[in-house]
Amino acid sequence: FSEDPSFWKDHNVQVIIRLRPLSGSEISVQGHSKCVRQESCQTITWTGHPESRFTFDLVADETVTQEKMFKVAGLPMVDNCMGGYNSCMFAYGQTGSGKTHTMLGDIEGGTRRHSVNCGMTPRVFEYLFSRIQKEKEARKEEKIKFTCKCSFLEIYNEQILDLLDPSSSNLQIREDVKKGIYVDNLKEIEVASARDVLQQLIQGSANRKVAATNMNCASSRSHSVFTCIIESKWESQGVTHHRFARLNLVDLAGSERQKSSGAEGERLKEATNINKSLSTLKVRLVIMNLVSISNGKSLHVPYRDSKLTFLLQDSLGGNSKTIIIANISPSLCCSLETLSTLKFAQRAK
Ligand code: ADP
Ligand code: MG
Repeated sequence: FSEDPSFWKDHNVQVIIRLRPLSGSEISVQGHSKCVRQESCQTITWTGHPESRFTFDLVADETVTQEKMFKVAGLPMVDNCMGGYNSCMFAYGQTGSGKTHTMLGDIEGGTRRHSVNCGMTPRVFEYLFSRIQKEKEARKEEKIKFTCKCSFLEIYNEQILDLLDPSSSNLQIREDVKKGIYVDNLKEIEVASARDVLQQLIQGSANRKVAATNMNCASSRSHSVFTCIIESKWESQGVTHHRFARLNLVDLAGSERQKSSGAEGERLKEATNINKSLSTLKVRLVIMNLVSISNGKSLHVPYRDSKLTFLLQDSLGGNSKTIIIANISPSLCCSLETLSTLKFAQRAK
């Protein structure tokens, strides 16, 4: 597994497979057998019938630490933003495959020295603020200033919820010639350190859980989007320069086809199933669209049909970088979902 981020060159979209370890309970039920076998840092074989081989930009097995993931996937996003371009990171995969572990990980561990399990988002901001500090020192005579503003929202059932202001509901996306695409009334909080960001992350994640309970749904069926707008301003030869870059970190809804629970009435069950499979289909279409926009290709469905694509369209394409981390489970009982994620991720390339 190489930490060399040079594979970014000439590619604006990268797909990385991340395999999580078997859990203790999976081992106690099925032993150590797995539904996949890694062949190299780019190739993985699904060991069901018939065996299928897949090749990606990178396959990260269970030994790949959060720190290594960050170096490959997170660091180039920040560098790209510091260059004035947008970056988006998406975690895709079935519920339980490691999306939140990848994006957030252990964030309760404190801010000063992050724990080994802390995920991409806190690491990204730690690095971002260290880059900002260096830039300020190096460009003192240009009087360079940075302003970073964060927001954290959730999209459930095509409704936008502000995770930093849970009293608000059903926020609307607006388009403005000057501002571009934005969410009306969404709380934006100025942050000046990784510690500030972590505080918002912890607060927002707690609100995500509460919201899921109140709406009687699993957070596995919602997308969460953490955005930071990095504004820089400097002077050179008597002229003031302005630059904006957007960094989006997205924890997508679970990609699985969900089973119905027996407790519901028959009709309700049917309706729920239809909704659920529609939402699964939607997650996939959304990603295919995001990839299409990033590559400057045509769309699979109009982006206005989905809040997530509508919201992110400004952040994709051109010199933006997009990374999709497709998380998979090695467990035998997840074999079919894992195959489906591998096939899907292959198509996203
Ligand atoms: P998701 O968000 O996709 O539903 P989670 O991130 O909650 O999945 O992961 C499910 C469980 O697996 C959690 O207990 C998490 O800590 C663990 N896990 C996921 N990925 C890894 C990994 N790479 N290393 C160790 N544990 C992991
Ligand atoms: Mg999750």
